[in-house]
Amino acid sequence: MKLDDKLYLIRYNTDKESHITIAEDDVCRKECKHKPCTFICPARVYKWDEEENRIKVYYEGCVECGACRIGCPYSNIKWGYPRGGYGVAYKNG
Ligand code: SF4
Ligand code: SF4
Repeated sequence: MKLDDKLYLIRYNTDKESHITIAEDDVCRKECKHKPCTFICPARVYKWDEEENRIKVYYEGCVECGACRIGCPYSNIKWGYPRGGYGVAYKNG
């Protein structure tokens, strides 16, 4: 099954509170040249915002795969599972 098909099978119960935060915006700005979070996340949760000069986190689309937790070279992403009952769920098809 292709990723797009899998993403179609997902449904969300979105929390108002983000389960993902960036620890230090300055680390993204000044240290992290390639910003891998913006391309390793399959759900495109992380986007570099030129105007605000920081990474913005669109946590609502997170599929809880864990890639960003190991992919940020500065361990600058604080990630916890969404609160009980919130987050992603998978349909049976
Ligand atoms: S990979 Fe980590 S340090 Fe780099 S931009 Fe993303 S959150 Fe910031
Ligand atoms: S856990 Fe996976 S889907 Fe969620 S933000 Fe990290 S890389 Fe993206």
